[in-house]
Amino acid sequence: MGALPKRRISRTRQARRRAHYLKLEMPHMVRCPQCKTLRLAHTVCPACGTYKGIEVLEIEDNAE
Ligand SMILES: [Zn+2]
Repeated sequence: MGALPKRRISRTRQARRRAHYLKLEMPHMVRCPQCKTLRLAHTVCPACGTYKGIEVLEIEDNAE
């Protein structure tokens, strides 16, 4: 027979252990220097289409 745990590990203990490797990934948001909106870091801004000050995407202006 294989080794079995003597006691059941409590939900808190299990969660505490898992917190070390099962981290919830939070999207890293930064403010765009061009349009000041929050966008995902290391990505082209969806609002103005720039990345590191260079325009990469052409954004159609849908003025309301
Ligand atoms: Zn922008």
